[in-house]
Amino acid sequence: MLKFKSNYSPAGTILKLNINDLIADNIKGLILDLDNTIMLPKSGEFSPEIANWLETALAANLKIIIVTNNKDEIYLNSLSPLLDKYNIPIIIKAKKPRSKNLKKAIEYLNLPAENICIIGDRVLTDIWGGINVKIKTAFVEPLIGKKENILYRALRRMEKVFLERA
Ligand SMILES: [Mg+2]
Repeated sequence: MLKFKSNYSPAGTILKLNINDLIADNIKGLILDLDNTIMLPKSGEFSPEIANWLETALAANLKIIIVTNNKDEIYLNSLSPLLDKYNIPIIIKAKKPRSKNLKKAIEYLNLPAENICIIGDRVLTDIWGGINVKIKTAFVEPLIGKKENILYRALRRMEKVFLERA
C-alpha cells in the first residue's frame, strides 16, 4: 500500500513542533496549512499560543507563507489585516496535493527545497503535496474546536492509514 512518510510527526499540534529543532535541521522556510493547523476553521484569529509560535518562528528568521485549499474568498479576504500584521502572504484555493501552488510558494520563499518544510494536518493534501515538490514535511495533529465536523474527524482518521510514522 502507498504510504507517505513525514519528516516530522510530533505527538501533538504545531505547538509541539520545536522551532529550534527545525532550525538545527537547516529549515529556513515554512509553508503552513491554514485550517486546523494554525487556525480553527472560520475563526478568523490566531490563538495566543499560535500567535506566539508564529512570532517565535519569524523572530528566528524563518520565512513563512500560508498555502490553503480553502476557497472561501470572502472569509480569506477578511484575514488580510491579521496576516499583514505578521507580513505573512497566503495562497488560497491551492488544490494541494497538486504541485502548482506549492511551487509558487517555494518560489516566494526563494530557498532550496531541502531548506523548506510544509506543516499540515492532512496526509493526502499537505504531506502528499510536500512530497510531490520534494520539500520536508511535518504532519501535526489538528487544532480542534468544539464544533469540528464529525465527517472531517472520520476522514482524518482514515487518512492516517497512509502515514508512515518517521
Ligand atoms: Mg488543514
